[in-house]
Amino acid sequence: MMRLHVGIDDTDSKEGMCTTYVGAVCIRRLKDCARLLDHPKLIRLNPNCPFKTRGNCSISFSVETENPREVKRIVLETVEELAEKDPSTESGVVFVERGLERLRAYARRVVRELVSLEEAEKLAASIGAEVYKWRGEGRGIVGALAAVGHPLDGDFTFELLAYRRREWWGKPRQIDPDSVAEMDRRTFPRTFDNLDPTTGEIRITPHTPCPVLYGIRGESAEAVLEAHRMVRTLEPVDFFQIYKTNQGTDEHLIEVSSLKEVRPLMSVIAEGEVSKNPRIIKGGHVIFSISDGSAELDCAAYEPTREFREVALKLHAGDRVRVYGAAKQREGLPLTINLEKLEVVKVGKLFRKLNPTCPSCRRRMKSQGEGKGYRCPRCGEELPPGSERYVEVERDLREGIYEVPPRARRHLSKPLVRMGRVY
Ligand code: ZN
Repeated sequence: MMRLHVGIDDTDSKEGMCTTYVGAVCIRRLKDCARLLDHPKLIRLNPNCPFKTRGNCSISFSVETENPREVKRIVLETVEELAEKDPSTESGVVFVERGLERLRAYARRVVRELVSLEEAEKLAASIGAEVYKWRGEGRGIVGALAAVGHPLDGDFTFELLAYRRREWWGKPRQIDPDSVAEMDRRTFPRTFDNLDPTTGEIRITPHTPCPVLYGIRGESAEAVLEAHRMVRTLEPVDFFQIYKTNQGTDEHLIEVSSLKEVRPLMSVIAEGEVSKNPRIIKGGHVIFSISDGSAELDCAAYEPTREFREVALKLHAGDRVRVYGAAKQREGLPLTINLEKLEVVKVGKLFRKLNPTCPSCRRRMKSQGEGKGYRCPRCGEELPPGSERYVEVERDLREGIYEVPPRARRHLSKPLVRMGRVY
């Protein structure tokens, strides 16, 4: 008996397929020649990777087998058969027998940084892993190796994926929405992201032509299985697979101690003071600036985040915030953090200038111009500059952490319900 770890990445395109499906089919076809160890892993990679496919996910699974050659043959044939043939789909498969511990740090880096294909191939060679590549340069190797090496021993979640029969691919998904609402009511927060909390829209079904009928995310394999049994579908479920995953963990975020450490394509947690008030730009996006003395960055709440934008709009210069998101550099614009979460750490005091009232008639006096004092429009009484008062404005903004709605959330972003912090 020997153990074999299999990693697969980049088998999908915008037109279809899903690497989790390819993995799940492999697992079923290996039934007679291998025993699956533990849950297969679904690893989401750096969401800022410019080469990424749709969800930038890779998968891996471990088996015990007496016939590794047969296992490899079946996996390679399945990837060959199912992977999209689009030139941008640079599928990769790796087979690893030993040296897993040497992949751990690498796997973490692939989630947070951009790792070159060259580095992945060198590392694979150094542990005697077999690599197979299809199309282009075979960048899929990078993620396939990371999926094998990721220990998923810190924070992790589960996702149960139910797949459609081939004849249904590309057709509207047939799910009873009431059963999803009921499932959510009975299993939330052990499962999460089933519904959009504001619109009630169902979030478990994708909107792509891929083989996934729905995916249920949760804290344990038991919870997602229980939830799956409550969902009624009006089309047959071909089969389902539970994956253990780094989705919903914020693993992609690097906490920086100053804003000058933020670089393009990094996903960060950064703290600063609002330095420029929010403004709405073309397309309905809200932009504000933050600074900590070391650097000033823009932060963006995009239009599709709707209610989240409203929070950003209430910020004012002087408020202290922690921002969570990916730093993007666009030509001619400051480095901008695309917000995934926004924590209002301290709502600053905001004052409004009030002209003095006339000592004789109690009318509001008029300013005579900058530094020239005040004059009563009725009785002509005058007061010197400095007679104005400042009144504190009540802020319609509460300290706390806010997140973009599920429809705009990244796979890796940790939902607030998992942080135990819902306001
Ligand atoms: Zn007066």
